[in-house]
Amino acid sequence: MQFPESFLRELAERNDIESVVSDYVALTKRSGQNVFGLCPFHSEKTPSFAVNPSKQFYHCFGCGKGGDVINFIMDMENMSFPEAVEFLAKRVNMPLPEKGGDGRSAIKRKKAIEANTEAARFFHSELMAAGGKEAMNYLSERGMRLPTIRNFGLGYAPDAWDLLLRHMREKGYSDFELYDSGLVKRSKSGGYYDTFRGRIVFPNNRCERQCSGLFRADNCGRQGQISQQPRNHDIQQGPPPLRNEPCKKV
Ligand SMILES: [Zn+2]
Repeated sequence: MQFPESFLRELAERNDIESVVSDYVALTKRSGQNVFGLCPFHSEKTPSFAVNPSKQFYHCFGCGKGGDVINFIMDMENMSFPEAVEFLAKRVNMPLPEKGGDGRSAIKRKKAIEANTEAARFFHSELMAAGGKEAMNYLSERGMRLPTIRNFGLGYAPDAWDLLLRHMREKGYSDFELYDSGLVKRSKSGGYYDTFRGRIVFPNNRCERQCSGLFRADNCGRQGQISQQPRNHDIQQGPPPLRNEPCKKV
């Protein structure tokens, strides 16, 4: 996707390079126009990684890496140019320019549905496994019978930080795709962790067994009410599951 020049200019203005780099690198030394820190791209003991806030670029005198704020995110997060642009836009809540006809948002949406469907499958198998016993007991106490649980693909997200993340990586999803699908969150240190932890999970099933998003119910043994919806704004939320409604074409 071609981004308009004006959009990219505003994006760079709003994502000041010093503050973006500071999310990853402690910039400890100031010298002339530059601030220095330890390079995140090569191993070193004395800082040779320079950020120039007035010119809005970075340069490492050790390994030679350098560029603007978008290049930095591409290198740091291992992203393509459009992914890095989108990442930075999200960082400052800046809406992306919508371009009709390039099919990009349709592809993104399709990918998010695939990711959520795989996650729902994973959580369902966790519920059916030995580790899901407590959750299963909780559901059965609430009158939920096995055929219903199977039919609606209910799942259990174990109380772990990266169980789904690791599973999805093995399936070939990038961290950013998972973030975009609402399945993982980003920590302050720049890593990612599972959105759904220690919860019963209700997939929002649409046609053809596709899951357009996951809902999590409150922890087993507590109220069991639906407490949170996925963050992804690209996915139109349907009603909560467990309601037998006619299937609409997505
Ligand atoms: Zn370097």
